Amino acid sequence: MSALPAAAASPALERYEPVIGIEVHCQLRTVSKMFCGCSTAYDGAPPNSHVCPVCLGLPGALPVINRQAVEHVLTTGLAIEATIPEATRWDRKNYFYPDLPKGYQISQYDLPLASMGRLAFGTSDGPVTIRITRAHLEEDTAKLVHATAADGTKVSLVDFNRSGAPLMEIVTEPDVRTAEQARRYSEELQLLLRSIGASEADMERGQMRVEANVSLRPRGSEAFGTRVEIKNMNSFRSVERAIEHEIERQAASLDAGEVVVQETRGWHEDRGETYRMRVKETSDDYRYFPEPDLPPLHLDPAWLDALRGQLPELPAARRERYQVAHGLSAYDASVLVADPDATRLFEAVGLVDPGLEPKQIANWVTGEYLRLRKQASGPIDVDPAELAGLIRLVVDGSVSRGNAKEVLELHVATGEPTAAIVEARGFRQISDTGALGIAVDEVLAGNPAAVADYRAGKTQAIGFLVGQVMKATRGQANAALVQAAVRRRLDAGDGA
Ligand SMILES: [Zn+2]
Repeated sequence: MSALPAAAASPALERYEPVIGIEVHCQLRTVSKMFCGCSTAYDGAPPNSHVCPVCLGLPGALPVINRQAVEHVLTTGLAIEATIPEATRWDRKNYFYPDLPKGYQISQYDLPLASMGRLAFGTSDGPVTIRITRAHLEEDTAKLVHATAADGTKVSLVDFNRSGAPLMEIVTEPDVRTAEQARRYSEELQLLLRSIGASEADMERGQMRVEANVSLRPRGSEAFGTRVEIKNMNSFRSVERAIEHEIERQAASLDAGEVVVQETRGWHEDRGETYRMRVKETSDDYRYFPEPDLPPLHLDPAWLDALRGQLPELPAARRERYQVAHGLSAYDASVLVADPDATRLFEAVGLVDPGLEPKQIANWVTGEYLRLRKQASGPIDVDPAELAGLIRLVVDGSVSRGNAKEVLELHVATGEPTAAIVEARGFRQISDTGALGIAVDEVLAGNPAAVADYRAGKTQAIGFLVGQVMKATRGQANAALVQAAVRRRLDAGDGA
């Protein structure tokens, strides 16, 4: 079956309705691993340097629960409005793989820490809410490295640094209907996890891994089709592309009268298509049973209340506040909230000068600030007080918007105060009506022919006169004020 290009208005979508569920694994932000004291700061460390008998799976080693990891999952549960049970327990998920030294993974099966939650977000087709079946805690596997040795032989190496790192799995109901919704869900979940500090959730660094279960059913049908699991999507864009591709692949298969095989497929980024990895296991194959080395975990309501009290403002609530209290558009609010640096700058500028219109600040942050940061392709330094001062100069008419943009760019490049740049570059506009009035009077007196033209009905002569005032003030006059002053004098009949 060849890959059809995924089109925006795919004919496949007219005949078939995609039914998609998303599974996300994310590494939790903890100091130590899930069941031992080994440090989780192993990024860039030599292989097998962050290990102990517990995470190496040596016989007789006993696990101890990481409280911080449990709290991250509980906080996530609270943030997605999930139900938290009074008690939970750990289960063994049995399977053999070289990256799993114990031969089982400690996970949670039928009593997850959080269940029945939801996540709402915006899409190009409007707001969507996806139900979240569960969020549970488990341990990560080790990492296999397939390499070629110095003598040319192919080797597979195991690095146990990641073994036993705390992992949260978040599973949705099959509520997702489009590839875009899948991408947006993943983006919103990342934003939420970052805002509550549960995970850095960087997809490129493997801290957040998104998998999708995709099936198709004829439009109007209730029964689910055979689902295919897609893995190896390493960016939000890949999530969208892979699902678009998979929808087209399954539709072509169904159209040809073939049976969709339940299997796991990988996403090949460069080829832009999915490929078969293995025929899918079912949960029966894992022979789950309660973990005998760990006691059930009782979740004290007071503990949950304390965690609830520590929840920060969540992204959805912040977007709502920006729109309702600050009058921002839904678009501006979502751009600001999606970017923690932009959020911080927006809030900080508003604190420095509470008199500024939030819309003005939002324009500068979502426009110039994000543009300059993109141009620098890295973090940039904008002092909130400096930006507040600059916006104030624009609002007061002391600096034109165009010049102010140049000032901000210079401030970012040099760190110099914006006021100093304005003075040094001669950007301060003459908005003093007294000084402007003198300049206007002189120009009108010096150009009687143009004044006469205007009075004779050639109103375009005003453009020439305004130009002469701008020239006389070396471009520093506020053009709008000059225009108004010239018109006022000509219409009043003086100045000739
Ligand atoms: Zn360890």
